[in-house]
Amino acid sequence: MPASVGAPRQMLRRLREVMAEHESAQARLDKVVMLIASNIVAEVCSLYLRRRDGSLELVATEGLNVEAVHNTHLKPGEGLVGLVAEQAEPKQFADAQHHPAFSYRPETGEEIYHSFVGVPILRGGHTIGVLTVQNRTMRQYSDEEVEALQTTAMVIAETLASGGIISDEVTAETRREATARFTGVPISEGVALGHVVLHEPRIVVTRLIAEDVELERKRLQQAIEELTGQIDTMMERGDLARAGEHHEVLEAFRMFAHDHGWRRRLDEALGTGLTAEAAVQRVRNDTRARMLRMPDQRFRDRLHDIDDLSNRLLRFLSGGTETAATGDLPEDAIVVARTMGPAELLDYDRQRLRGLVLEEGGANSHVAIVARALGLAAITQCKGALETVEPGDAAILDAEGGELHLRPTQELVSAYVDKVQFRARRQAQYAALRDVPAVTLDGQRIGLNINAGLLFDLPHLDQSGADGIGLFRTELQFMISATFPRLEQQMRLYRSILDSAGDRPVVFRSLDVGGDKVIPYFRAGAEENPALGWRAIRMALDRPALFRTQIRALLRAAQGRELQVMLPMISEVAELRTARELIDKEVMLLKRHGRPEPSKLMVGAMIEVPALLWQLDSLLPLTDFVSVGSNDLVQFLFAADRGNDRVSERFDVLSPPVLRALRQIVEAAARHETPLTLCGEMAGRPLEAMTVIGLGFRSISMAPASVGPIKAMVLSLDAGKLGQRLDALLAGDETSLREDLKRFAAENGVQV
Ligand code: PEP
Ligand code: MG
Repeated sequence: MPASVGAPRQMLRRLREVMAEHESAQARLDKVVMLIASNIVAEVCSLYLRRRDGSLELVATEGLNVEAVHNTHLKPGEGLVGLVAEQAEPKQFADAQHHPAFSYRPETGEEIYHSFVGVPILRGGHTIGVLTVQNRTMRQYSDEEVEALQTTAMVIAETLASGGIISDEVTAETRREATARFTGVPISEGVALGHVVLHEPRIVVTRLIAEDVELERKRLQQAIEELTGQIDTMMERGDLARAGEHHEVLEAFRMFAHDHGWRRRLDEALGTGLTAEAAVQRVRNDTRARMLRMPDQRFRDRLHDIDDLSNRLLRFLSGGTETAATGDLPEDAIVVARTMGPAELLDYDRQRLRGLVLEEGGANSHVAIVARALGLAAITQCKGALETVEPGDAAILDAEGGELHLRPTQELVSAYVDKVQFRARRQAQYAALRDVPAVTLDGQRIGLNINAGLLFDLPHLDQSGADGIGLFRTELQFMISATFPRLEQQMRLYRSILDSAGDRPVVFRSLDVGGDKVIPYFRAGAEENPALGWRAIRMALDRPALFRTQIRALLRAAQGRELQVMLPMISEVAELRTARELIDKEVMLLKRHGRPEPSKLMVGAMIEVPALLWQLDSLLPLTDFVSVGSNDLVQFLFAADRGNDRVSERFDVLSPPVLRALRQIVEAAARHETPLTLCGEMAGRPLEAMTVIGLGFRSISMAPASVGPIKAMVLSLDAGKLGQRLDALLAGDETSLREDLKRFAAENGVQV
């Protein structure tokens, strides 16, 4: 083997050439093993590939009996070859035949060979085959020799994967063909049939063998510097949500990026003649293989970090750092991501987007809200999907049942086509309710409004038959812009919204940024707890020019029409007062310039900070309306980050503490005759919306797609009867009332 140590590159290059020759697959494989054996001065070199049933088949050999080819199969874990495959790491034995795992196969004639070294052929951390070398003498193979063999195995793996070399019956990796099913939590209902797009494209390494090792070393060094620089900047800037990262993830990146072991392994891989890209790929495969075998789930979770980090590094090396949004999308894209920020989702061409699959993130996170606004089928917490999907895979996303089917069978596709048709019929039934007033069985008129944030939301107002826009999230315009939208631009958007809404009311919420809503061009500085930090009205009051510009734009857009402005994240009465003063100043300015004023100006507050619960009697007289932001209110009541899926679903919104808080608000609003609504995500879920109405809310605001189902629920509900049931339930001490409320709905024929 020593011949290979100094110069494996020529061999690798030759190996690639052989693989690309116009010969039968078998002939090429035969040449491959011959080439390796001759280069490394070994008597035997054999190649085993994994079959669909998991067994390893001898597919080519130099040195063993040729009759054994395709006849020798080792069950998973059987023999030394099985051991290498199972443990996914190199193994060597000076006296192989006396190893307890040795499995004697007379047809191979291997009894005369004593020393053995086997290395796994890895793809995505999974063993797809084993490459072995044997010698007659009892010898010890050096680390360099084993390393060179691993590199050879990698080149074989990449060449197999890039297609062509292996015919079906000789079989290599079959993951691409296998169907797979994953479960997740629905974010936005819908069923999508389409094709997978990876939000962060994986770089396919095509250039494997280095022309100039020193040059590759420099390229890698530079890419690592750029990568660590990017991570440091992201951490400093607090640009976490935009990049879709959590602090913890970035910390893990940073740890890996500075890890000496990782860098040393990269260096060793480079030393065997690989390009920088191939070295990254090789180390990623080895690390993945090691981590996949670790029993502790925490290590396995770190797989993502290694993948992400390697991907980023590969993107730096290839010069492409964009997400898939900027590339060519199929007509029916189902985007799969570990996580992403709301603005990143908005970067995609809406016409081509069918679905969104996230591995992490809560169902009330802002990216989830944007997904709902876009009417995408979307699920989150779909663990393991990223590891299995290949770009371009056919997929069915069932965001009703919370399932992702990859590479579905024809039968499954047919079943889902039926389901899609069924959904379309149900949508038609909802559409038929469009002009039916939302009145409960006991005669309560319920205002059903939509949440919106961009111009493309507006057609939903007509389609859904909603009463108005209960929450217009003005920050979305800011989040998708490259720079601060100027007064003119803001005004234009608000005017178009009011024009389209006609005489239906629109509630414009003033800029609510901070937390996970990041404006890329506005650096606010890193915060330990951004959800509790400098955001929304706090930012507006500290930077009054920003706030006043927005108010000016709203006032000018609304001339002669009613204008409703809602202030987010109010925590104390003084904030409302100060904000009102700023608004009044803008009104004065308008008057002074003789510009037309809105016909009516109403200023409201969001109730989403728990402290307001004990200030309602002083707050409500100062407001024209209030709206409960239940997403934030619940996050703060339970101290559970809405964007963190470990905790976001931990506490039930249908639990006494939340419902008692809501009832307290209903009672206070009634005392002060203040118009009240609720615009958090719970308003769009039938069982939750039913409960809210049972508590006394007579107006709610939701994602447009929810209006139909919610109206159907309202039409089948006796609000008074539910109110009585809730009185009784809230007097008890149950942790969650969900089951009781479901029972109420079932007993009373409420459509939830
Ligand atoms: C809320 O917090 O419930 C809300 C409606 O506002 P956002 O989701 O935009 O924070
Ligand atoms: Mg909020």
